[in-house]
Amino acid sequence: MKFNIAIDGPSAAGKSTIADLLAAKLGYNHLDTGAMYRAVAYQSLKKGIPTDDEKAIVAMIEAMDLQMTIDGKVILDGEDISDQIRTEEISMRASDVSKLGGCRKALVAMQQKICAEGGYILDGRDIGTVVLKDAPVKIYMVASAEARAHRRVLQNQENGLEADYDKILEDIKARDYQDMHREVSPLTKAEDAVEIDTSDMSIDEVVDWALKLIAEKTGE
Ligand code: C5P
Repeated sequence: MKFNIAIDGPSAAGKSTIADLLAAKLGYNHLDTGAMYRAVAYQSLKKGIPTDDEKAIVAMIEAMDLQMTIDGKVILDGEDISDQIRTEEISMRASDVSKLGGCRKALVAMQQKICAEGGYILDGRDIGTVVLKDAPVKIYMVASAEARAHRRVLQNQENGLEADYDKILEDIKARDYQDMHREVSPLTKAEDAVEIDTSDMSIDEVVDWALKLIAEKTGE
């Protein structure tokens, strides 16, 4: 049976890019759990629901038809919102809704259901500590805030999004702080996770490192 792999770390550390490449190499699926918090943020903005109204947010999630497709698309109530959820406004709002215990509980349950059969690489903030506590491979990916801001600028430029370095650096630091200091499931390295600092590494180097780790831990 295929197992599941956990990748955690702060925003823009390269988790999604690496998870995508690893999934392709291993014949696994990638589930971007951050995109699910982003979808909740998007819907709450659209419906005018304040991010601190937990009861209303949970009711909204229950009514949402959220599909995470195998090819990485986010479909909400039949609409492809994959691009709309990538703005800085939605990033910060996702961090706001992710503080709510009720929101986390609902999304964690969806994530565990999706990967129940194994064969998934999940990336997020609480994968190794909550969602996949028993995963045989847990990676904790970090990079300096400056390296992450620089990468996000390039990524945003490619996607035609706002790309002001100072603003992006400020947003990354604010989101790091909020994600690490929230009461419910704050971002933290699982005891059995292996940490890697990707600040000065190329994408290929990180993928090679991860493939070696996966082989060591699982024999795959
Ligand atoms: O990974 P990404 O930057 O897309 O995540 C957006 C936000 O969603 C994060 O800043 C974090 O607050 C929240 N998140 C979370 N738990 C996860 C994934 C994302 O709290 N597993």
